[in-house]
Amino acid sequence: MRPSAVALSGVTRRRLLQQAQRAARLAPPFFLFGMPGFASTASRSDKALIAITMDLEMSRDYPQRGMTHWDYEKGNLDEPTKQYALHAARIVKQYGGVIHFFLVGRVLEQADVGWLHQLIEAGHPIGNHTYDHVNVMAGTAAEVQYRFQRAPWLIRNKSVAEVIRENIEMTTQAMRQRLGIEPNGFRAPGGFAGGLRERSDLRELVKSLGFRWCSSLYPSHPTTTPGSPPDEQLWKSLPRAWQEAQPFVYSDGLLEIPMSPVSDVTAFRSQRWKLAWFLESVRHAVDWAIQNRAVFDFLCHPSCLVVEDPQGEVFHTIGRMVTDAGDKAALVSLDDVAKQAWPRQP
Ligand SMILES: [Zn+2]
Repeated sequence: MRPSAVALSGVTRRRLLQQAQRAARLAPPFFLFGMPGFASTASRSDKALIAITMDLEMSRDYPQRGMTHWDYEKGNLDEPTKQYALHAARIVKQYGGVIHFFLVGRVLEQADVGWLHQLIEAGHPIGNHTYDHVNVMAGTAAEVQYRFQRAPWLIRNKSVAEVIRENIEMTTQAMRQRLGIEPNGFRAPGGFAGGLRERSDLRELVKSLGFRWCSSLYPSHPTTTPGSPPDEQLWKSLPRAWQEAQPFVYSDGLLEIPMSPVSDVTAFRSQRWKLAWFLESVRHAVDWAIQNRAVFDFLCHPSCLVVEDPQGEVFHTIGRMVTDAGDKAALVSLDDVAKQAWPRQP
């Protein structure tokens, strides 16, 4: 698999920025961000780019509400979760697409990683999601990850910055050694409303570890009262969040590919939606992306959906909509989104 993680030299970065600026002058992109930390967005396509992304990790409250066990072992995936990832990948393949997976590195300590080889052989890209699902914004050791609250000796004498660097680096190393691949991009655990806008140090870190793009932004958006269905007010307000979730280039050349609301854990865990409501929100989002030829980066987790959508209806919903849209939309990986953002990138 072609490695997506390539270190950028200063010259390359400058050239990318110049290209993005030139592209912005020639043809106004869909979404311009005039906020500090942004150079401009370079996203422009004649098609809607629909990416299905899945974070390979365990989730709190699954399979039973109230369970916190997995907070300490985010990367120790159980059998139903791994089988669901394979099941979802097969569905998306039927529609001619791939799932862009993000891996929590600790799963590579398991005896059998055959399921990951199956995903790789079927052409699904896999990115780096840190080794222990660490909070890259953590200010103290206790905030880094629950595992280190219980077992602080694992990170003794290390600064928070060192722990975070090591957690990303170690995952790349583990993917090389156990899977024989380079990671396809980096996704920050959690998701932040402002992405890495205010954290040039973290952007430098991500770039220094060989990544050209990252996925760290999940825009804030209105929610419903837990247990109640989405209403007109929510449908009216979501387009703003989808717009905020369009790719853009930070001022130092790192490309951000945000996650688009509403994620599965937000819908099911926080808002206690029913599957039908979630499917409706996905239909609204894909419709909007097709109408605006925009990017929709669908974020989901096999540990959540194996309980909430065991048949994988959401993947059929997205697959059918993209198929019906003909040449107005395409199912893509986040590497494809990155290529569109930098069309002249060699
Ligand atoms: Zn995650």
